[in-house]
Amino acid sequence: MKLEEFQAKKLFSRSGIPIPEGSMVTTAEEARETAGKIGCPVVVKAQVQTGGRGKAGGVKLAQSPEEAQQRASEILGMDIKGHKVKRLLVDPAVDIRGELYAGITVDRNKKAPVMMVSPAGGVDIEEVARTTPEKITFQRIDPLMGLQLFEAKRLAFGLFDEKKKALATAGILTRLWSCFRDCDASLAEINPLAELADGGIIALDAKIVLDDNAMYRHPDLKEMRLPTPDEEKELLAKSKGLSYVQLEGEIGCMVNGAGLAMATMDLIKHLGGRPANFLDIGGSSNPQKVIDAMELLVSDPNVRVIFINVFGGITRCDDVANGLVEALGQLELDLPLVVRLTGTNEDQGREILANAGITAVTDMTEGASKALELASAGGGERA
Ligand code: GDP
Ligand code: MN
Repeated sequence: MKLEEFQAKKLFSRSGIPIPEGSMVTTAEEARETAGKIGCPVVVKAQVQTGGRGKAGGVKLAQSPEEAQQRASEILGMDIKGHKVKRLLVDPAVDIRGELYAGITVDRNKKAPVMMVSPAGGVDIEEVARTTPEKITFQRIDPLMGLQLFEAKRLAFGLFDEKKKALATAGILTRLWSCFRDCDASLAEINPLAELADGGIIALDAKIVLDDNAMYRHPDLKEMRLPTPDEEKELLAKSKGLSYVQLEGEIGCMVNGAGLAMATMDLIKHLGGRPANFLDIGGSSNPQKVIDAMELLVSDPNVRVIFINVFGGITRCDDVANGLVEALGQLELDLPLVVRLTGTNEDQGREILANAGITAVTDMTEGASKALELASAGGGERA
């Protein structure tokens, strides 16, 4: 379970790690009020369960409450790597002298938590590990003994010659370990750990991933859970009477019935393709439901082709065909479409589709193969 920065900073603060004392807000007006309260300049930061917000334009400085409001309205609603921004953190801005890195993760090979520090902070640490690995220092942490003060000091004096700064940093590293241990985290990261112009050392960013398997003993942390983008989509689908599960492939599937939907995914996999989703639109031919389902499918940027697989039982194929034609008339679909339609009144259904310029196949394997072909042919290449 990933926490957002404002939540992780609360846990940092609880463990005694110095952080800027800001507030989480959900509207631009609130951002202005908060900026007025804490005093400008402030930094307005997108709260999403992913990193790289700075690069994506999700972290902005503001010199006045009005500017904070302006920046907030720009950042709210922004899409950062598939995460829609709904919350912001408004922090007092600080004068930065240097950006360092400190983090703890579990190292399976060492069978222990490992602390990593680097003077090259503020940037993607994976990039540092790739290009200049010598800039990262590791310290295995004995899980029973915990991080020892001499170990924290050794790391801190590697970062700062100045005694005061090194000792402040050693204190932060020790507290980062307590925080990691006390929350049953699998990752706790400060990037950047900032060296301020006034000599202070402070955590400017916070990232914590909690171990789901340990959440039973942290009811207060469990409550912090925020839905991921995938989960939000699934909830939206549910509210429209659709049963939807997001997957990672390119073939968007729309099927009537859960069993047939499962079989459709199996067949696509069997043929060497990858389904983009599970989607059961149920036994109704309601055009609105088809429209809702289509909108859900095209909102996934990975989808290259849509495969509609309908077996008409109680639901009649002519009804389904009418619903489909009406739905397609209302949508501007820029993706190739494959329809497989069989069952009750299938001839009428196919005729209705043919009149609307859509060819339907009867065989499921034929339909799936066609969808695979279109997906790999780069059909519906999208921006
Ligand atoms: P990330 O890009 O998602 O990791 O977001 P961060 O919280 O790490 O912010 C990105 C960058 O914004 C940091 O590395 C800093 O350079 C800058 N930044 C964040 N807060 C402040 C601040 O208070 N003052 C200044 N000058 N820069 C800041
Ligand atoms: Mn960061």
